[in-house]
Amino acid sequence: MKIQDLIIGGGASGIAAAILLARKGRKVVVIEAQDRALRKVLASGNGRCNLSNTAISPDRYNAPDFVKPALAAFDGKLKDFFTSLGLELREEDGRIYPYSLSANNVVSALLRTALSSGAEILCGTKVKKIEKSGKLFRVYADGKEFESENIIFATGSNATSGFDSLGLLAPLGHGFTKRYASISYIPCHSVKGAAGVRARAALRLVCDDKDVFDGRGELLFKDNALSGILAFEASSRYVRALIKGKICKGIIDFVPDRTEKEVEEFLSTCGLTCIDALCAYLHRALAVAVAKRAGVEGKAADKAQKLAHALKNFAVDFDGNCDIKNAQAACGGLELCDFDSRTLESGKVEGLYALGEALDVDGDCGGFNLHWAWASAYAAATAICGGQHV
Ligand SMILES: Cc1cc2nc3c(=O)[nH]c(=O)nc-3n(C[C@H](O)[C@H](O)[C@H](O)COP(=O)(O)OP(=O)(O)OC[C@H]3O[C@@H](n4cnc5c(N)ncnc54)[C@H](O)[C@@H]3O)c2cc1C
Repeated sequence: MKIQDLIIGGGASGIAAAILLARKGRKVVVIEAQDRALRKVLASGNGRCNLSNTAISPDRYNAPDFVKPALAAFDGKLKDFFTSLGLELREEDGRIYPYSLSANNVVSALLRTALSSGAEILCGTKVKKIEKSGKLFRVYADGKEFESENIIFATGSNATSGFDSLGLLAPLGHGFTKRYASISYIPCHSVKGAAGVRARAALRLVCDDKDVFDGRGELLFKDNALSGILAFEASSRYVRALIKGKICKGIIDFVPDRTEKEVEEFLSTCGLTCIDALCAYLHRALAVAVAKRAGVEGKAADKAQKLAHALKNFAVDFDGNCDIKNAQAACGGLELCDFDSRTLESGKVEGLYALGEALDVDGDCGGFNLHWAWASAYAAATAICGGQHV
């Protein structure tokens, strides 16, 4: 039987598409370069797989207008899809995980379902060239040749690991934007002596004097970078602003649950030196940095106002992009203007579809990228199966 749908990339979006298409009785083959499929899903969410979020909406992505139709078509279907794989889900602070909190179980369920639905998965086979002659695609991969009616291009990105295979579509007329690290630590001028120190804080990201992110959580100070879950949450907004040439800084509030007046009152009455008084709120290394930033020393009582202000408005200048090998997702990819946002089919090459991170789509930290992988697979599979719901 001739291959109907050849899926390039056995990651989240590729395997989801394989399941949806094979369930409709189509002849589906997935070609995966690595020795096993779904490597990033296995690593996702620190091994717990944060596969979606209760706050999915187009404005949590870099390209809201483009993602809107596919997100809308998939709305309310996530649970059914995972139930059909034999998985239950759970929610923690808006983040959606498999109930077992095991990424390994998600990988097993996806692979088991793809294979039992009739899809074929060829691992250790890297696609090197794609051609189209007449109505058929011809694909060359490590000495093998394949012919298929459709190509589903789901090659992801080279964030952390993987390949940047976007150049495969250049001969077919597709352009792509430069890739940057998204969902990563944020490079900045370090807080001297504080590497390895964590703080529960609020972080505001200000780019060209406009607030683009405001959140609370844990920060981890590193040499020349701000890390921790809160920095990761801010990072996608940061990189989008960086690409546009904006100047960004972070404003850290180390005591978000106290007003400046309350902090000032404590500092002015505690009878301690500046640094000892700040240690009521902070690790000593950060207390030293805050006192220095306030430009004060000696007894806290006389300088309480300056200290309280520095504690709640500690500015950090962000600068540059981290190495993509240290990021969980990439910003940049196949140019969106070449694809129909409802079907994800190329407007240049009939029968060519692109999914997931291969497209210039990136979401916020918290399950938004995997959600896009499932939603984009659903959009393309629905279009390929004649517009019926899969
Ligand atoms: C450490 C880590 C943790 C993460 N945690 C989360 C999380 O908790 N929540 C979340 O939403 N997102 C998370 N992400 C991001 C998420 O995993 C990705 O956005 C998602 O996997 C993208 O799906 P995809 O199908 O587009 O690409 P991928 O899942 O990356 O799959 C692409 C596949 O294509 C293959 N490939 C590439 N080129 C070729 C070629 N030429 N021939 C054959 N095969 C090829 C690759 O080997 C790869 O297997 C995390 C990422 C990492 C790295």
